[in-house]
Amino acid sequence: MVRAVGNAGNSEENGETENRAASENGSLRESKVKRKIERPRGTRDFLPDEMEKRRAVERIMREIAESYGYREVCTPTFEHLELFTIKSGEGIIEEIYAFKDKSNRNLALRPELTAPVMRLFVNECSVMPRPLRFYYFANCFRYERPQKGRYREFWQFGVELIGSDKPMADAEVIGLAYRILKELGIDFELHIGHVGILRKLLSNLEPELSLKIFRLIDKEQLDELERLMRGRGLDVLYAKISELISTKGDAGVIEKVREILDSSVNEDLDYLKEVCTLLDSYGVEYVVDMSIVRGLDYYTGIVFEAYAESLGAQKQVCGGGSYRLSHLFGGEDVPSTGFAIGFDRVMEVCRVSPSRKLKVAVVDANCSREAVRLAEMLRDRVKAAVIVDVMGRNLKKQLSHCSDADFAVIVGRKELEGGYYTLKDMRSGEQRKVGFEELVKILSS
Ligand code: ATP
Ligand code: MG
Repeated sequence: MVRAVGNAGNSEENGETENRAASENGSLRESKVKRKIERPRGTRDFLPDEMEKRRAVERIMREIAESYGYREVCTPTFEHLELFTIKSGEGIIEEIYAFKDKSNRNLALRPELTAPVMRLFVNECSVMPRPLRFYYFANCFRYERPQKGRYREFWQFGVELIGSDKPMADAEVIGLAYRILKELGIDFELHIGHVGILRKLLSNLEPELSLKIFRLIDKEQLDELERLMRGRGLDVLYAKISELISTKGDAGVIEKVREILDSSVNEDLDYLKEVCTLLDSYGVEYVVDMSIVRGLDYYTGIVFEAYAESLGAQKQVCGGGSYRLSHLFGGEDVPSTGFAIGFDRVMEVCRVSPSRKLKVAVVDANCSREAVRLAEMLRDRVKAAVIVDVMGRNLKKQLSHCSDADFAVIVGRKELEGGYYTLKDMRSGEQRKVGFEELVKILSS
């Protein structure tokens, strides 16, 4: 789908040659062949069929989030670069669209929305009664290698539940993500873990080393992990971690983890157990998976991911967890939980068909003024897409060009004089004379 850079280079060269030839002919303005401008690498265009489906999916997500009391927020497309480096470090600049504006400010196109929403919280809502329930649907930008399911502009639907550090909050957010994915007919598996446990195990290591370990676990590079830890003489810790991250199963495995680790993580395990019990009440099916760490992210407690296996390498359709960010942005330290659904990946696997709008063509024989008036009246009264001819075609041609409509309403001299319209059912070809109210009734049924 994405055009290689090399192609763009070639067409540039071709364009130049053509321009030169044209100017030699002395008629540069007329024969200048413009180079076709391609969209930037890693971006996509969406045609109406696709957009209808996207909007239908978006609508379902919004309705479900609203049914849990979440309300939409919107933040700027670009932010101060610092908002994204403050927690993830300067390393993230490689992965995002960072730039300077004309006043030399360091800015970045948002790569995600949790940090922007928490900034909004600190700036605008810190005195509002908590908890706050926000959702967003917006485009994000990352400088990644484009491939199927991985784009440089993509969309996320997500929520942030701000102000609670209780299992009820985490369970609500997970329950909501689960319901959205289920409602969309996606075949997925939800994995849930607790990153606080691994953080505790690594708390005595230098931050840089523990970050490396987190990254390797997130990317499932386990051989590399073993080499790194054994190489530093951390054999005992490696054995523990290796056993921990291979623990997967139902809520019962939480007790197994208790046996592997010491009592310092008991509280975290009790918390995870409580969340699991609540998820049972939500009717959520899950796998407890202690290898979920969410990579570079800012998560501190419960973490979860949903995978749609059929997507292959880019199978993660949702990621989330509990975190603390607001104190980094100048606010107080407020616990929050959120998730982000990868909208474009969901579009690949969801089973949603947009409801098709009735299409009515008002077809006229040299009566365009009457056709416009009728079309306007129908738009007022009927839930349909009503189109009129704008090409100056005759009646016959108009009819043959609207074969994709459900109905054609013919307005000709005969009809005007007789005070009726001719309604043609485009599927059956059947025609009948109708008055305006009857027309409205038929098109509304
Ligand atoms: P991945 O490991 O696939 O890169 P991630 O951990 O970077 O995902 P998050 O930052 O948690 O992902 O973003 C939430 C969701 O957004 C992901 O689960 C994924 O579905 C989607 N997503 C992330 N990056 C992209 C991208 N470049 N193109 C399309 N969707 C993406
Ligand atoms: Mg990523």
